[in-house]
Amino acid sequence: MPKEIWDCIIIGGGPAGYSAAVYAGRANLKTLVLAGYRAGGQLMIAPRVEDYLGFPNGVPGGELSQVFRKHAEKYATKIIDVDVTDVDFSKRPFKLKTDDAEYHAKTIIIATGANARWLGLPSEKVYIGKGVSACAVCDSWFFKGKDVAVIGGGDTALREAIYLAATCKSVTVIHRRDALRAQPILEDRAKAAKVKFVWNSIVEEFLGNSEKLTGLKLNDVKTGKTSTLKVDGAFVAIGHAPSTEFLKGKVELDAKGFVALKKNTMTSVPGVFAAGDVADFTYMQAITSAGEGCEAALDAHRFLEESK
Ligand code: NAP
Repeated sequence: MPKEIWDCIIIGGGPAGYSAAVYAGRANLKTLVLAGYRAGGQLMIAPRVEDYLGFPNGVPGGELSQVFRKHAEKYATKIIDVDVTDVDFSKRPFKLKTDDAEYHAKTIIIATGANARWLGLPSEKVYIGKGVSACAVCDSWFFKGKDVAVIGGGDTALREAIYLAATCKSVTVIHRRDALRAQPILEDRAKAAKVKFVWNSIVEEFLGNSEKLTGLKLNDVKTGKTSTLKVDGAFVAIGHAPSTEFLKGKVELDAKGFVALKKNTMTSVPGVFAAGDVADFTYMQAITSAGEGCEAALDAHRFLEESK
């Protein structure tokens, strides 16, 4: 049987991928989206998105993702919720492998996003799922009426803290410096929600018994003093790492593993484009990802026109 060749395969089902699907589909490209087993991207764990243009009252991240998907379904030829495990970009048509199939395409748009980073302490691993988490929306229920900590000083950390403050007895943000990276409006909101702050401190160890986390060993980086903070839960919110494991050696990545862009959304391989958090560690917003998805689809369309 002759192999089916898609004009454009989009890898990833977050704002960048779905936006690319709308634009590629509307440009009449035969478009396949391989959205991933956990399609939806980071929006799926965002309690509320308040800064996406057109939603003045805010919208739960999961709901926004569903709206994006519906829109993409209208124009993409097909959407499948599978992960891409391997790629061959050595010649065109490009080849993509999933657990049980192989796909071929004239152009590729990488939109696999980024995932939460962990501190990397051995004790952190021990207590993941036993008190340590990277997702307040997913796990706050387990800590209702309890004391929790959030580690980090960016937007994610403060959004997690504010979310947790609605149900937890106390929320303490532990930050390694004495100033936040987060937007000032979030700091104001966190303080109004009675979130406490421990400044200039890092977590040295996650403490607990064989069943669950009971506290954190903290180190004050200014004084060198250590202390213990009793908590039932700890949420690690220290940024994100790109989902590019399967691309190593296949397309140029930068030192942090993000896809390196050459010109606009073009990668080091002609015909392979990237959009969203997988290639952008500066803006990392749903709206910028959607914009970049649009750009990648326009670039892919132009590439196909020029290759005729
Ligand atoms: P981020 O802005 O990179 O902040 C990471 C925080 O974790 C920083 O405060 C950093 O400290 C701290 N950190 C990093 N590594 C650490 C370590 N090993 N130990 C202790 N602390 C560590 O990441 P983010 O908060 O996830 O935000 C990423 C992007 O997404 C940002 O552009 C943000 O605006 C955006 N975002 C948007 C929304 C939205 O709803 N619109 C929500 C969440 C995030 P330093 O400050 O000392 O570097």
